[in-house]
Amino acid sequence: MRPNDADSPRARDPVLLLLSGGVDSTTLLADLSRQGHPVIAVTFDYGQRHAVEVLAAKKFAQRYAVAEHLIVHLDLQLGGASTLLAAALPVATFDGPLPSGPVDTYVPARNLTFIGHAAGLAEARRIRRIIVGFNADDATNYWDCSAEFVERVNATVQLGGGNAAQVEAPYLQMTKAEVAARARHLGVDLTETVSCYAPIDGVACGRCLSCRLGGSELSR
Ligand SMILES: [Zn+2]
Repeated sequence: MRPNDADSPRARDPVLLLLSGGVDSTTLLADLSRQGHPVIAVTFDYGQRHAVEVLAAKKFAQRYAVAEHLIVHLDLQLGGASTLLAAALPVATFDGPLPSGPVDTYVPARNLTFIGHAAGLAEARRIRRIIVGFNADDATNYWDCSAEFVERVNATVQLGGGNAAQVEAPYLQMTKAEVAARARHLGVDLTETVSCYAPIDGVACGRCLSCRLGGSELSR
């Protein structure tokens, strides 16, 4: 996030934020809110097993007084292609080194779907910036969180012409731990964010990839 953004002429332009209710997007919400941007938050309810994150997104949207909170319901019809979509399948846990390639919690082309829809919402509302909460750790396991993905999806959206929105990922160079530090700096209550893929009675499992990257104490 650019430190002097609040002073820029664009500071009061509305932005569209993909808000999952996890650490990254919630910290972005706090950042954008501090900068004085009217935020249109978009949360996707797509049949994820950790649907409790949608509730967290609603809570944070209220707390940071977003201009509008859109909950988009998607029926992806992807069956058991991801453990995030199939509650009967166990989410992989990691006690040792973390994986460097694709993982069971990958949802096929999910972020392409999300950003595609967000581009439509932005175009309909004449919003010029779409903000997403990818971080450097995400790109290790999910191709649709990488810098190259952001660059190419941007190129595609820009085909829409001069009024097309720009997709921005301000935390793309930051690790999950650095985002968490930013969250603490901004006073975000991390215990209320939801990043765990498989919470047990609302409490983070501590062993899934997301918990291991973010620290289980960060999410519930
Ligand atoms: Zn977990």
